[in-house]
Amino acid sequence: MTKQVETDETLPLGDAQIADVLTRWWGFDRLRPLQAEAIAAALAGRDSLVVMPTGGGKSLCYQLPPLVGETTDVVISPLVALMKDQVDALEAIGYPAAAIHGGMSQEERSQVRDRLAAGELRLLFTAPERLVNTGLLDVLARVGVKRFAVDEAHCISQWGHDFRPEYRQLALLRDRFPSASIHAFTATATPQVRSDIARQLSLRDPVQLVGTFDRPNLVYRVVPRTDRIVQTLAILGRHRGEASIVYCISRKETERLAARLAAEGLLACPYHAGLDAKQRHRTQEAFTRETIDIVVATVAFGMGIDRSDVRLVLHTSLPKSLEAYQQETGRAGRDGLAAECVLLYSSADVFSWESLVRKSAAESELEPEEQERLIASQMEHLLSMRRYAQAARCRHAALSEYFGQSYPAAACGACDVCLGETDSLPDATVTAQKILSCVARVQERFGVRHVCEVLRGAKTDAVLRHRHDGLSTFGLLAAVDQRTAENLVHQLLDQELLARTAGDRPVVTLNERSWEVLRGTREVVLLEPRAGKAKASKADTDDWQGVDRDLFERLRRWRRRIAEARGKPAWTILDDKALRAIARERPDSLAALLRCKGIGEKRLADFGDELLKLVSGKEDP
Ligand code: ADP
Ligand code: ZN
Repeated sequence: MTKQVETDETLPLGDAQIADVLTRWWGFDRLRPLQAEAIAAALAGRDSLVVMPTGGGKSLCYQLPPLVGETTDVVISPLVALMKDQVDALEAIGYPAAAIHGGMSQEERSQVRDRLAAGELRLLFTAPERLVNTGLLDVLARVGVKRFAVDEAHCISQWGHDFRPEYRQLALLRDRFPSASIHAFTATATPQVRSDIARQLSLRDPVQLVGTFDRPNLVYRVVPRTDRIVQTLAILGRHRGEASIVYCISRKETERLAARLAAEGLLACPYHAGLDAKQRHRTQEAFTRETIDIVVATVAFGMGIDRSDVRLVLHTSLPKSLEAYQQETGRAGRDGLAAECVLLYSSADVFSWESLVRKSAAESELEPEEQERLIASQMEHLLSMRRYAQAARCRHAALSEYFGQSYPAAACGACDVCLGETDSLPDATVTAQKILSCVARVQERFGVRHVCEVLRGAKTDAVLRHRHDGLSTFGLLAAVDQRTAENLVHQLLDQELLARTAGDRPVVTLNERSWEVLRGTREVVLLEPRAGKAKASKADTDDWQGVDRDLFERLRRWRRRIAEARGKPAWTILDDKALRAIARERPDSLAALLRCKGIGEKRLADFGDELLKLVSGKEDP
């Protein structure tokens, strides 16, 4: 049974006991539809395979059932950081959970085992290798564990994007615990990965629940890249004091950009796999505790970062696939509040990726045939990414369709195209003709930079040496700066109105379509290169409706202080959604505070009085 259901809608609860647990522990009033079905399957002891996008609310599906049935369930998770964050978040609501992992002392581990044996724990988190290789299974058998949740279940499949061989060992769960149910969770949607998960875990006629991949609270923008730093600063300027992730391709770039942002007074740090573990850890921690706002990172940053209030994910270069883009942008707005995802696009990146792909295939130990297959598949991914970036159509629709789901709305109101932010250049055909005839005049023997220098009338050494200052096209685009000119040439390359040779020193050449433009039989549309203006999306306006922003900022300062004192990620204290609810409702009694979303009984007891004082202005954070 496969069902596709909206994940952002919520349903009233049928089951009074579930409703009671949900409001008392989490302070939520509703389950999302898929959660309700996943929880029903878990309570019925029926195997399940749940596919939900990042932020869809997978964790509640395995956190809630053991409270209802008063069982001890086991969650298998690939990363220690992920386990720790979840245990922290659960402890914050008084939920009896613990993790067993290699980073703990012998004594800490045996304490957890004692709690486990005494039946105190509702959830135990552990990694596959620890589960299988340490005798932990015997303990679990004695306790009579009846339910296993396998998180990030795509790690078991070599078709997934994050294959981990140790996940394969989980195959023995079925044999060792024949009467327990197994529940797999992932955000990877392809049917191939899905059936692989079911097979490897020997799931028995699992309930398959597949969520909607669209993330309505994210605003997508693609901005032609003209100046990485200027544009990055302008975009970050819309998110002062908010959590942002800025992705770069190379390690060097992350360091350069982070230094530049820090020089502008922004709280930014670089992050990449080449930094030592201690420094990486410090940066991650500073980010989750809100002592820095911005991480400038390679794709090494992300897995295990669970800050739910990331308001901006900015890609300064092209990701290598839409899968990667979906995953990286998925880190924005996990709290369900509006967040922005901007891609600075230049087709120059396509060519860098292409040569990287070829180089790494050539350096691999694969047979020539296999190399070709690898290159072809990576180029296919790159092409999809490029099509997305240059298409002037709704980004939400394009992404949904790529992941095999239709997108119902005609205009999403949450992307640059639907918000009408993209402008086309007046006289684009004439501009294109100027560029193309310049390519012809330099006899199709020069690269993008040189062609643009000639068009701008720049008297560089190379221009003078080749006497290109005497060409009729010299200075035809004198009013345009170099970056803008190069951007226009790249747009022509993207639309295949101009070609480019492969290799280290690519040369721009004309093709059949170029001649059609030159002869005036083909119209050209070019986008106006700009710094990236942005209109407010409906989601953003709605999320701030009625919120006292001063109070919200005071609440955040208070939260930062608590997070630092306790050494916990700030969002585990209270997330942004809860803070905004308080800053909107301005509760004046504990009863009113309890009605705010995200406030359950434990948080009320822990922070109720302090929060009321903050609201009434009697206390400074
Ligand atoms: P995933 O693991 O699928 O990426 P999470 O489990 O971290 O997603 O949930 C994402 C966010 O949604 C969290 O901030 C969580 O508190 C919130 N959330 C989950 N379920 C509900 C619900 N029923 N009502 C309100 N908020 C919810
Ligand atoms: Zn749109």
